[in-house]
Amino acid sequence: MHNKKFLLFLLTGVFLGFIIGGYFPHFALNVSFIGELFLNALKMVVLPLIIVSIANSILNMKSLESFKNVGIKTFFYYTVTTSIAVGIGILTVILIKPGEGFPLHSENVFQREIHFSVRDLIVNLLPSNIFEALVQFNILPVIIATILFSLAVLSIEEKRELQLYKLISELDIALLKFTEWIIKFAPLGIFSLIASKIASMGGAKAIIPVLYSLGKYVMTVLIALSIHAFLLLPLIYYLFIRKNPYSYLGKVKEALVTAFATASSSATLPVTLKSVTSAGVKRSVAEFTLPLGATVNMDGTALYEAVATVFLAEAYGIDLSMTHYLTIFFTATLAAIGAAGIPEAGLVTMVLVLQSVGIPQEGIGLILAIDWFLDRCRTAVNVFGDTIGAAIISR
Ligand code: ASP
Repeated sequence: MHNKKFLLFLLTGVFLGFIIGGYFPHFALNVSFIGELFLNALKMVVLPLIIVSIANSILNMKSLESFKNVGIKTFFYYTVTTSIAVGIGILTVILIKPGEGFPLHSENVFQREIHFSVRDLIVNLLPSNIFEALVQFNILPVIIATILFSLAVLSIEEKRELQLYKLISELDIALLKFTEWIIKFAPLGIFSLIASKIASMGGAKAIIPVLYSLGKYVMTVLIALSIHAFLLLPLIYYLFIRKNPYSYLGKVKEALVTAFATASSSATLPVTLKSVTSAGVKRSVAEFTLPLGATVNMDGTALYEAVATVFLAEAYGIDLSMTHYLTIFFTATLAAIGAAGIPEAGLVTMVLVLQSVGIPQEGIGLILAIDWFLDRCRTAVNVFGDTIGAAIISR
């Protein structure tokens, strides 16, 4: 994807969305089907993408032994830091309330009732019917089933003979390509989603309030990302390594700038590898943890998905209960693990988080107006998390 050209298309889509929605509402409503097609495409690809990318990361560990040695530690670090990031995101958005008073209406808002009991949570960790779990977008049991299956494959002795390895890694490549294709249509999809949303909110008079709320939303995401990147990750680094985390940040800044410029953890990977090894991380550890981190460790993405979901809930006037917050917490963590390290991948898995608490998905259209920028910021945080993880595990 030509980065600059794509960015230009995205911005044009956003701009035209506001103008057409504001001043030509009839036309905007007539082309709303384009946005719906785009949302359908996202939903179409999200589950296969998550399943295959997680299976592929595990199979890349090559044996159950290396999964036990470095893999478990790495996974532990990734899940803990990602959950902390989601926690920071949820707290910040609850405190700032950027979505309050946002003029978003929808005829089809329905509050998804979630009954929560620890017993149910445990029992539902495993799907009794994998197809039913897939159909209902029930991400947790699907991911657990994927992990267990992948470990079973890893444990098969004569694994090198298995065609399955090759198949899954090729499927992973193919699905990435497929997702990239869908994302190429993002400028058009975003245009249509924004235009029809503004039109249904009353046209031109909705533009200023929408921009105002979006500004508050951007601030919230940036504040939460900064807390995670400049306070939490450095603290974790210091606890394990006992050295100045900010001088480490200085050493890996090339990777962070590249992440911001490309909006892709995967595209940044060569630079990340180079930066951390010249900062003193063992090459063998960097070569194992970084490629894995670029696909599964996404603190910035997880944080962002949680903030966006709570923001949209507020904007739609949906009251969230403790159970909803817990659901957002889990699904945002898992959705980030399953997101690919490519530009705008977070918007693909975002669908799952919104779905988990019953928030109308066309709300995505509005937060996407500014996603091209937030994507860059969260990608830099994603990559920073990877570099800290590599340093700690190398230690
Ligand atoms: N662009 C991000 C990354 O590559 C993923 C996302 O869209 O959040 O890390």
